[in-house]
Amino acid sequence: MNLKCPLYINGQFIETPEKQNIVNPSTGKVIAEASMASIKEAELALSAAREAFDYGPWPQFSLFERKEFISKLAQGILDNAGMLAALETQNTGKPIKETTFMDIPSSAKTFEFMANNFIDYLDNEEINVSAETKAELIREPMGVVVLIIPWNYPLLIACWKLASALAAGNTVILKPSSLTPLTALELAKIIHNAGFPAGVVNIINGSGAKIGETLCADKRVDMISFTGSNETGKQILQYSSKNVKKMIMELGGKSASLIFNDVDLEVAVNSSLASIFLNQGQMCTAMSRIFVQEEIYDNFLASFAEKAKRIKLGLADNPETQMGPLISDAQRKRVIAYIDKARAEGGRVVCGGKIPENAELINGYFFEPTVLVDVSTHSHIFKEEVFGPVVLMHKFSGSDEAASLANSVDFGLACCIWSKDLLLAQELAGKINAGTIWINTYGMFYNELPYGGFKQSGFGKELGREGFLEYTRFKNVIVDQSPDGKPLVNYWYGF
Ligand code: NAD
Repeated sequence: MNLKCPLYINGQFIETPEKQNIVNPSTGKVIAEASMASIKEAELALSAAREAFDYGPWPQFSLFERKEFISKLAQGILDNAGMLAALETQNTGKPIKETTFMDIPSSAKTFEFMANNFIDYLDNEEINVSAETKAELIREPMGVVVLIIPWNYPLLIACWKLASALAAGNTVILKPSSLTPLTALELAKIIHNAGFPAGVVNIINGSGAKIGETLCADKRVDMISFTGSNETGKQILQYSSKNVKKMIMELGGKSASLIFNDVDLEVAVNSSLASIFLNQGQMCTAMSRIFVQEEIYDNFLASFAEKAKRIKLGLADNPETQMGPLISDAQRKRVIAYIDKARAEGGRVVCGGKIPENAELINGYFFEPTVLVDVSTHSHIFKEEVFGPVVLMHKFSGSDEAASLANSVDFGLACCIWSKDLLLAQELAGKINAGTIWINTYGMFYNELPYGGFKQSGFGKELGREGFLEYTRFKNVIVDQSPDGKPLVNYWYGF
C-alpha cells in the first residue's frame, strides 16, 4: 500500500483529514489511501475555478496557446502509459490488456484530437440577416464546469470531458468516483507539470452524497457534465435547478444487439461476447440483451454459451486474463440479486450465474459470465441495467419485431445490428431509438463522432464537434449599419 492520493486545488496538492482506503478488486487488498474532500475543499475548488475563469489568463489565451497545453497532456499520458495502465487495472479490476490497449491510448488520443481540431470549431461566424445588419455568432467558453465521472472508465471519461472543456477555454472541477480516484490524481500531476495556470483544473475526490449538492447547486458553476447512474443524474438535476445551469447527462443503458439469420455466425458470436463481457459487463453500452433471428437462435446460443464458459477469469494484472473482478462486493451483490429475481420471474441460467470457486480468486469480487434465457419482456432484468457480466438472449422473427424489442425499454444509448444485408440494417438503424448504432461491429468510439444517448440514457453529447460545442455558448453581436442610423426601433416613439 501507501500510495497517497491528495486533492488538487488551485495548483496545490492537498491532503485532507478524511481518508478513504482504495481497494484492489482482484484481491480485496487496500492499495492506497485517498484524501476525501469535505464541503470546505469543495468550496475552495469552486472559488479557485471561478477566479481562474474570471481573472486568470486561461480563457484569454490564444487558441494556439491552449493547444500547446492540451498537447502536453496527450504526451504526458503517453509518457506514463505503462504506469497508468497498471494503476487503472489495480484500481478498477479491468484486465491489463484492456487498460493497455484501450483506456490509456484512447485517453491520450482524445487530448491530441481536441488540440488539433478544436480551432476550426471555435471560428466565429458571420450570419446574413439583412442588408443593413452585420451579425456575428461568437462561440465562447461556458465558464466554470463541474465534471462528475463514474468508476467504470475513470481516466478515459475524465479525459473525454477535460479535453473538450479545456480546449473550449473553461475552467473545471473534476470529481472522480471515490472508488477509483487513482489515475485522476496521476493526471493532476501531468496537468501540474504541463504548467496549467492555478485553478484551471481542480480535481477533488469525495463522496457524491457529501459534496455533490455543494458542487452542483452553486451559482459559481455554469455547467455540469455528468456521467453515471440515472438515480444520481436525477439528484444532480434537482440540485442544479436551484440555480439554472447547462447540463450534459450521460446515464445508463440496456442496449440490444440484433442478430439476423444471414450473419457470419462465428464473427457475430465473438463480437457479441466482447459486447457484454468486456470490463466485466460494466459498460454503459453493454449489449445486455441479445436478440437472434429464429433460424440461427439455437446455434448462436449454443456457441455463445460454450465460448462464454471458456472466458478466462483471473487477476486483472495478469496479461492472460480475459475477465477480471467486478468493482466491489456491493456491485457483485447487485448482480446476484438481479439473477435471483430473473430466476424467480421464470428466467433460466444457461451458463455462469455464480461466483467462481478458483482459490486464487476467492478474495476478489469475481463473477462468472452469465447467460439467461426464457426471460419475459416484462421482467426486471429485461428492462433494468444490471451493470455486470449478465446477458439475456431472446428470439425474433423479422426486423419489425427486432426494432420493437430493441426500443421496448426506457433507455436509448446504443444498439448493434448484425446482417450482411446493409440496406436492411441501415433502414432498421433509422427505426432504433438510440444515440449510437453499430452495424456489424461493436464498441467503436471515434473522437470525430458525438456520443450520447436518448430517452432515460440522458442528453447532450461528448466527443466530436457537437461534443466540443456543448462546452461553449453562443453569443450574437449585431451591428446596425442602416444609413443615418434609422432603423424603425430608434424612432419608435416618434421622438
Ligand atoms: P454513480 O451515479 O453511482 O456515480 C457517478 C458519480 O456521481 C461518482 O463520481 C459519484 O461519486 C457521483 N455521485 C454520487 N452521488 C452523487 C450526488 N448526490 N451528487 C453528485 N455526485 C454524486 O454511477 P457509478 O456507479 O459510478 O457508474 C455506473 C453508472 O454510470 C451506470 O449506470 C452506467 O450506465 C453509467 N455510465 C454511463 C455512461 C454513458 O456514457 N452514458 C458511461 C459510463 C457509465
